[in-house]
Amino acid sequence: MVNPDDADAAEAVFHTASPDATRALAETLGRLCVGGEVILLAGDLGAGKTCFVQGLARGLDIPAGKRVASPTFTLHGEYEGRLVLNHLDLYRLDDPAQLHGLGIDDFLADPGAVTAVEWPELLAETAGRERLDLRLEHVSESERRIGARASGRRHARLLREWAGGGAFSGPA
Ligand code: ADP
Ligand code: MG
Repeated sequence: MVNPDDADAAEAVFHTASPDATRALAETLGRLCVGGEVILLAGDLGAGKTCFVQGLARGLDIPAGKRVASPTFTLHGEYEGRLVLNHLDLYRLDDPAQLHGLGIDDFLADPGAVTAVEWPELLAETAGRERLDLRLEHVSESERRIGARASGRRHARLLREWAGGGAFSGPA
């Protein structure tokens, strides 16, 4: 659960019982974003990472017509709302050097953007300290457990606010 004593780190666990609930949970996170957030989404195929990013887009006021999908042939999708959402899916990435060709350093440093990364394992070192790591896991066909770990002061505060909103957090 959220540890209120450590300013530079925080943890929380959420549960959702449907894709819509995952989107709604992510939307509440999107509403709290102010730019510069880095959100890494780990989890198996079908865990709900893309579904989560769709909710995030809603929370950033990205028009519903610009539907967030897994970028199949590109590694990067960009959506404009209240803030820019950079959506990366690194499933097909085999060489971390490609990341720099994608302009990853610019996304991560952009104070007017939120960057959400599926399959972030190859990003570990590039992502830096200020970030929110999410791990989505299947509990059953329609339930997911979403473990969240924030590092860095800003992301820790973000996670505390998000988890403090309440409806989805529960015992691990
Ligand atoms: P990923 O991007 O992790 O591969 P997707 O978001 O593309 O996963 O797909 C998640 C799949 O799981 C969708 O078919 C969605 O309908 C289904 N699903 C069932 N329950 C949930 C839930 N609680 N949260 C998110 N997705 C769910
Ligand atoms: Mg996906």
